[in-house]
Amino acid sequence: MHDDASSPSEWSPETLAVAAGRPPRTPDAPVNPALELTSTFVASTEPGARGYARFANPTWEALEAVLALLEAAHPSSGGGARAFASGMAAVSAVLEQVPVGGLVIAPEGAYNTTLGLLDHLEAKGRLRQRRVQPADTAAVQAALEGASPGDLLWLESPTNPLLEVADLPALCAAARAAGVRSCVDNTFATPLVQQPLELGADVVVHSVTKYLAGHSDVVLGAVVARDPGLLAELTRHRTLTGSIPGPFEAWLALRGVRTLHLRVERSQASAAELARRLSTHPAVARVRHPSLPSDPGHERAKAQMRGFGSVVSIEVRGGAAAATAVQDGVRLWLPATSLGGVESLVERRRRHPLEPVVVPEELLRLSVGVEDVEDLWSDLDAALTASQR
Ligand SMILES: *Cc1c(COP(=O)(O)O)cnc(C)c1O
Repeated sequence: MHDDASSPSEWSPETLAVAAGRPPRTPDAPVNPALELTSTFVASTEPGARGYARFANPTWEALEAVLALLEAAHPSSGGGARAFASGMAAVSAVLEQVPVGGLVIAPEGAYNTTLGLLDHLEAKGRLRQRRVQPADTAAVQAALEGASPGDLLWLESPTNPLLEVADLPALCAAARAAGVRSCVDNTFATPLVQQPLELGADVVVHSVTKYLAGHSDVVLGAVVARDPGLLAELTRHRTLTGSIPGPFEAWLALRGVRTLHLRVERSQASAAELARRLSTHPAVARVRHPSLPSDPGHERAKAQMRGFGSVVSIEVRGGAAAATAVQDGVRLWLPATSLGGVESLVERRRRHPLEPVVVPEELLRLSVGVEDVEDLWSDLDAALTASQR
């Protein structure tokens, strides 16, 4: 059991990341939750008994307690988090709440597999979708006019990999007024930088794989909400479909969350510094990062985020070939997909056939890690310069 009661909601997220989800402090108790490897539990007639390990697991519960508090979905007022086998399992659990034939309004540029899943479900007749430019508040509001209660507004902000910033308070309020549930994929920002539920969203999803776990050694997802009825439906979906996390993955993710604030602080600072330097690099045609005063999302990000995130996207002069040369030319940055780990990664996103065509061919997504920023800069600068020869 974790000790929610000793994690007051007035503590800052930085403190909660460290202090929440620990066992009760009884004499000689362990300070960390155990890695519970069991497929079943001794039969019990107590209410809420776990019963079988597809229904519940104490190691998941410790992680879920911390994620709920970080996203301001305090369990004492009915809120909570549910861990899933992957970020996509979490996305899928939320989409499954849309009634058959219902409408999902989604960004035209967002995480490619979320959009791929929407296409797949639409092709099977499971739901309808409408793609909008998420930074265009009026366009999203217009799309909501054609929506009915039960439909879903799907947002990601900043978006992967275009780093577009949606006006979350305005859009979540418009969705609520239309009787439409809003869900924000908060993977890029993390709850330390942005709390969508506080900004009016109904549901938050995370690829825990990324910043929350933070060490590129786990695939895991989570959904966070304040509505106990929705949480019960999400739990039912997880139990029925078996989209459950492994206990070891949950344990590793919680270990990662303990240093989330330190990692995010460092990588955000480095990302802003690299964005600033890249914006005058002769090999770079465009830098996308909301920290830049010239970025279209800058003012909005300042209003709704505590920082600007640690992913920077750049468009390399010379097209896809030059961008690929940068990806192949770095020695410290790792040429790999994914993001949010301690190590810096670089990837040309359009190498994936599923990547939306609104993403330029020459776009490189940079996931800035926690290495020395000068080492990151000199490696990237050398590969960019070499790409122009
Ligand atoms: C990676 C990612 C996902 C999917 O998460 P997995 O853990 O890989 O299933 C969803 N949304 C965003 C924004 C992501 O970056």
